[in-house]
Amino acid sequence: MADLQIENLAKAFKGGFAALNGISLDVADREAVFLLGPSGAGKTTTLRLVAGLEEASAGRIMIGGRDVTRWTPRERNLAMVYDKHSLFPHLTVFENLAYPLRIRKMPDADIRRHISGVAETLQIEKLLQRRPSQLSGGQQQRVAIGRALVRDADVFLLDEPISHLDAQLRARMRVEFKRLQRDFRATMLYVSHDQLEAMTMADRIVLINKGRIEQIAAPQDLFDRPATLFAATFIGEPPMNVMQAAISEMNGRYFLRIGNASIEVDRDWIQDGEPLKTGETYLLGLRPQHLSLCAADSAHSCKVSGTVFAVETLGSRVIFDIEVDGAVIRVMSSIDTALNYSRTIGAPISFRIDPDFAYLFDAGAGRTMRQARFTTKGKTRLHA
Ligand code: ATP
Repeated sequence: MADLQIENLAKAFKGGFAALNGISLDVADREAVFLLGPSGAGKTTTLRLVAGLEEASAGRIMIGGRDVTRWTPRERNLAMVYDKHSLFPHLTVFENLAYPLRIRKMPDADIRRHISGVAETLQIEKLLQRRPSQLSGGQQQRVAIGRALVRDADVFLLDEPISHLDAQLRARMRVEFKRLQRDFRATMLYVSHDQLEAMTMADRIVLINKGRIEQIAAPQDLFDRPATLFAATFIGEPPMNVMQAAISEMNGRYFLRIGNASIEVDRDWIQDGEPLKTGETYLLGLRPQHLSLCAADSAHSCKVSGTVFAVETLGSRVIFDIEVDGAVIRVMSSIDTALNYSRTIGAPISFRIDPDFAYLFDAGAGRTMRQARFTTKGKTRLHA
């Protein structure tokens, strides 16, 4: 195994389209780093550059401390797994697994030993004499992963290896992968557009958007401390609500106005770090999980009132789309089986903001400027 360093990597395709605009990241020895981002962000391009399947326009790739930027794919000693398993249909599972070892002229006895270890871990020992057409999609993918693992590669590159499997199998494979990564102690760079996959399996996530890195962080940190508006809204399901909020000042007291509610914020909150400006409009981010419904006649000070626009029931949870001053805000709550939710559409409804879980973004650059739970120390008060 080895570590991987990417320094200022850029790629412009023919015609000048810049798919990557100078990205830098490190994968430590035996670490699983996920490249996460929307379609077209540049994830696969990054992986292909690391693999040597595309040539970099600028930047450097180091594996185990050696500059491999100009090396051929073979010289880099990497193993790659794609979304579509590329097994040889005419070979048995055993021969598919043996293929990369035979290329390296490994003696037969060593090949058998290598394969038996990997087959046991992947629980495919009983399938070794079958051909790919006699396997399920999940079994085929396990063999494809096994074929990458039997090689003593320095780094494993995985491009959405389980994305085409059904939801149940994907869930099983997520757990299996985590175990495999631990058992094999492999250095992995893994491309995914599925945040659940990245959040559950990654040691660290590199969030990419439009060929640039938005943030690199451990999964929980990415959720708790998004550095940008993009990171805040990309991570989290349902996505974070974002609404305009203006800062106003009255008799030395500061308020954040949202719809019919205004949050009184501490002076420190305004002045700490980069000061917030009165009269300026910011973007306020509130996760649906951090909002809670309250009775319309509740006297709670942090109440926002609106009308139910739509309701989605999801077994144990319910998501309300609530219209507040022309904007729709989503609130997630646990389900009350005694209620007929479809009847609530069009009805007035109120919800409460938890001031400890609010994010404020700069409306122009989309940077995160404040995270209430880290800056207000519970001093924020909300006023209806
Ligand atoms: P997805 O999740 O859809 O696979 P991705 O993040 O992996 O997306 P890439 O495949 O890396 O995205 O593509 C990044 C951008 O580069 C896209 O806009 C894509 O159209 C463009 N691109 C990729 N390969 C080429 C190519 N060979 N020639 C020109 N443009 C390309």
